[in-house]
Amino acid sequence: MTELHIDPLSGTPTRIVPSRQRRPNLPDGSCPFCPGGLEAPDPYDVLSFPNRWPPIDGDRAEIILYSPDHDTDLGRLDPAQGRRLVDLWADRSATLGARSDVSYVLIFENRGAEVGATIAHPHGQLYAFDTVPPAAARELNDPLAARTFDADAHVERVVITSAHWSAWIPAAAGWPYELLVAPSRAVADLPSLSPEERDGLGRTLIDLVSRLDALFDEQMPYMLWIHQRPFDGGAWPDARVHVHIAPLLRAPATRRFMAAGELGSGVLFNPVDPIDAAAALRDLAG
Ligand SMILES: [Zn+2]
Ligand SMILES: [Zn+2]
Repeated sequence: MTELHIDPLSGTPTRIVPSRQRRPNLPDGSCPFCPGGLEAPDPYDVLSFPNRWPPIDGDRAEIILYSPDHDTDLGRLDPAQGRRLVDLWADRSATLGARSDVSYVLIFENRGAEVGATIAHPHGQLYAFDTVPPAAARELNDPLAARTFDADAHVERVVITSAHWSAWIPAAAGWPYELLVAPSRAVADLPSLSPEERDGLGRTLIDLVSRLDALFDEQMPYMLWIHQRPFDGGAWPDARVHVHIAPLLRAPATRRFMAAGELGSGVLFNPVDPIDAAAALRDLAG
């Protein structure tokens, strides 16, 4: 069982999960996510299963495998595989969102040892929260936030755009090559995406990750998360499904650190102009 504490100074909720300390830093021997491995005994294209080391209780943390191929990654999936992944995200969101003990489904990926990924096999995760977590609630409760999902407000910082999705660097990006990916239509959640929008989301993410990898000619470590409508029974008319990507490098082999002046002040200092960052990513072939 995990224990929830709210920090009296910051208001930040923290779950204390000592059981996570017992998880292996690197599993011994063969990859548990390859077909035939510990977590994936049968052949698969994409797969989800409960996290063996869950940070929240009640089978509400899952691992999501992107491919049976150990040596690929999100940026190198083919479009059909990208579509299967988006379909799985949508299916798991709908299934978990229908549970009475789930109000919010957060899909995310930590890629690279720099952000704590312990297994190289391409995978992401999912947490199904019993309440709407603060970072999602902050956006949902801000009447101005919905407007920022209009790509027309970001023209000079747009990286790619297609019939159904656009991706841009936010004007207030805290990470040098931070990206926001949003649909053209006001879609609230992953299960509500049309077949064309699902294809488009897969293609857009594949394109963006391949550009991030080409930027410094090395695999870009990143954090990626998907925000969507809460599954708490509320109407949420302004909710818009969207993807955040926070890449860690600011220059070749050079990490951007969130430092004391930033954590202590709550003000971020980004050394790369978002207009220049967008141009750099735009100029790369996807
Ligand atoms: Zn593997
Ligand atoms: Zn968001």
